[in-house]
Amino acid sequence: MSDLIVVTGAGGFIGGALVRYFVEQGAKRVRAVDKKPLGDWYQRVPGVECLCLDLRSEEACRRACEGAEEVYNLAADMGGMGFIERYRIACLRSVLINTHMIEAAYQAGAERYFFSSSACVYNTELQKSPEVRGLKESDAFPAMAERGYGWEKLFSEMLCQEYWEERGLKTFIARLHNVYGPYGTWDGGREKAPAAICRKVIEAKDMNSGCIEIWGDGSRTRSFQYIDDCVLGIDKIAHCDELIAKPINLGSGELVSINQLVDVVEEIAGVKLQRIYKLDAPLGVVGRNSDNDMIIKVLGWEPRTPLREGLKKTYSWIEQQYYARKAGRRVVTEAI
Ligand code: NAD
Repeated sequence: MSDLIVVTGAGGFIGGALVRYFVEQGAKRVRAVDKKPLGDWYQRVPGVECLCLDLRSEEACRRACEGAEEVYNLAADMGGMGFIERYRIACLRSVLINTHMIEAAYQAGAERYFFSSSACVYNTELQKSPEVRGLKESDAFPAMAERGYGWEKLFSEMLCQEYWEERGLKTFIARLHNVYGPYGTWDGGREKAPAAICRKVIEAKDMNSGCIEIWGDGSRTRSFQYIDDCVLGIDKIAHCDELIAKPINLGSGELVSINQLVDVVEEIAGVKLQRIYKLDAPLGVVGRNSDNDMIIKVLGWEPRTPLREGLKKTYSWIEQQYYARKAGRRVVTEAI
C-alpha cells in the first residue's frame, strides 16, 4: 500500500490548511489538487506535489487519485450565502466532482475516502428561529435541504454511503458547520460572515466612515468553528472506523447572533460603528447550530477554540492582507 495522501480543493481555504496540517504531522507524500492556477492558491506547502486539474472531468479525477492511499475531497464550487443563493447551478454542478472523485478513489484502490459535506444538508424547516436547538445528524431527513448547494451535498453523502455498502470503500462524511480563519476568502463575493465582517470593520477604520453594513437585521444566529479545529476534526473522523459511511457534525456549538459577531470584531478592532442593516441581502436560514453529542460520544472531542480567540487571529491576518493590497502588493482573493 502506498502512503500517498490526496487533498482536493487544496488551493482553497480548508484544503490548503489540511495539506499544511498533514505535512506538519509528518506525512511524507501529499498530493494537492485544485483547478485554480498555482499562483492563486491560498497556501503552498513546500515538498507537496501540486496539480492543477479541473475535477469535473473523469480523467482528471483518475489522475488526481493515481496511487492514493487516502483521498480527502474538499473541492467544490462554493462560497458564503451571497454565492450559494445566487449561483445554485454552479453549486449543483459540484456533483460532477463528487461523482467522479469517489469512483476514481475506488478504482485507485484507496483505503479511505473523506467527503466534506455541509450543515446546509439539514432540513430548513428546523432552522426558522434564532433560538434554534442544535441540529442532530438525524435531522437531515425528511429532507428539505438548502436549495442547490445543500441538495448536492446530500446526494453526494448518499454516494459515499453506497460505495461503502456495495463496494466496501471506507468513506467518511463530515457535515461542516461554518469554518473561519486565516488563509480563507475575505473579499470578492464568496467570503462568509466572519471574514466579511472583519474586512468591513477594517475598511470602516481605514476610511474613517464610522459605519458598517450588515446583511439582515443582525439577529440571525450561527456557530463558527476555527480552521485548526476543523482540520484536526477531519483527521480524527477519517481515521475512526466507527464512523464509516456515517455523516457526523463537525462544528462549534457556540451559538452567536450576527450582532454578537460584530460586537466581538469591533472589540478586537477597538472601534464602535453605526450599524446599517441591509434587509434585502441574501440571509440563509434564521438560526443554525451544531449538536455535538455524537462527536463527543464517538471521538471524545469537539471543536473548542473560543470565537474571540479565533477571530483575533483571523482579523489580524485579513488586516495584513488588506493593507498589503492597498500598498499594491499582490494578495490572493478570488473573484467570482
Ligand atoms: P474554498 O472555495 O476556499 O475551496 C474550494 C476549492 O475547490 C477552491 O480552491 C476551488 O478552486 C476548488 N475547486 C472548485 N471547483 C473545482 C474543480 N472543478 N476542480 C478542482 N478544484 C475545484 O472552500 P472551503 O471553504 O475551503 O471549502 C472546502 C469544502 O468544505 C467544500 O466542499 C465546502 O463545500 C465544504 N464546506 C465548507 C464550509 C466553510 O465554512 N468553509 C462549510 C461547510 C462545508
